[in-house]
Amino acid sequence: EAKNRGRNNVCFFSQAMREALTQRTSLARDLRSAVANDELRDYYQPIICLRSDRIVKAETLMRWQHPKRGLISPALFIPVAEETGEIIRMGDWIFRQAAQNALKWQALVGDEFAISVNKSPMQFIDPSAMNNDWMQLLQQLGLEGKRIVVEITEGLLLNPDPVVEQRLLHFRDLGVQVAIDDFGTGYSSLSYLSKFDIDFLKIDQSFTRELSEGNESYVLCEAIIVMAHKLGLKVIAEGVETAMQRDLLRAIHCDYAQGFFYSPPIPAAEFEQLLAAEAQKAGAQGAQVDIC
Ligand code: C2E
Ligand code: MG
Ligand code: MG
Ligand code: MG
Repeated sequence: EAKNRGRNNVCFFSQAMREALTQRTSLARDLRSAVANDELRDYYQPIICLRSDRIVKAETLMRWQHPKRGLISPALFIPVAEETGEIIRMGDWIFRQAAQNALKWQALVGDEFAISVNKSPMQFIDPSAMNNDWMQLLQQLGLEGKRIVVEITEGLLLNPDPVVEQRLLHFRDLGVQVAIDDFGTGYSSLSYLSKFDIDFLKIDQSFTRELSEGNESYVLCEAIIVMAHKLGLKVIAEGVETAMQRDLLRAIHCDYAQGFFYSPPIPAAEFEQLLAAEAQKAGAQGAQVDIC
């Protein structure tokens, strides 16, 4: 009996695996035409300055409006795009959207405004990828480099390739800023923080989620913030969902917060309305808060 059940389990498992594989293959195939068919969407999530309580930045997050499956999350399609190399074209697409919107929105916010764009390691390592195109686009648009923040993960800087270093230096020359995404979840080496010119650390949401007065996450967040500030970096907490988390982050001098407590990622048109409403409110109060 146990033997039979075991055999059935094996059958069931391989069936599930086959389905997952089929799904991946069909996603990979459909992704190849996603850019050309105008199926990608750029969403924006506000980043709030914890001192002024104002929106000062945004992160752009990709969505895929699949003709049959509806809106697909990047957690599902980014890994596939990385595997097939399609991420290069998709990354160029979202960079262009972000740059155009940064140009449009900068006057609504102020001097600190910037849009963060996530970059997969492949977009740094692949020799055919970007940089020159990006530089050209910034010049074409007349957009200052500082309006863009590139988000990378720690892994990229652990054993950096000369190409990666060169590209980071190139960003630096353009004034493009750099953030370490999901900080604290990757490697324990911190030496890259002094080796590279980094502007922001983004505390991963797994720390923010657990925050309560004096607990382990609180101690870790506080230590990260103290260290970052001593190194001249600013800190963004991801995944802020409650007023309590916001208050605790403020108490330990975190610079910025991002999360569902403020807003989920939303389409560009909605984000623009949010900015316009805030600009109007600020104008009515006669306050000019540019620097966080
Ligand atoms: P990430 O860069 O760490 O982005 C933050 C993720 O946390 C986003 O998920 C966002 O929607 C989610 N989030 C924000 N606030 C909260 C909150 O309060 N609670 C919770 N539970 N989640 C929150 P999303 O949009 O599903 O993106 C997932 C990941 O996919 C991103 O993680 C990023 O690694 C990747 N990704 C998204 N867009 C792009 C892109 O354009 N290029 C590349 N290379 N990767 C991307
Ligand atoms: Mg990110
Ligand atoms: Mg993150
Ligand atoms: Mg992430």
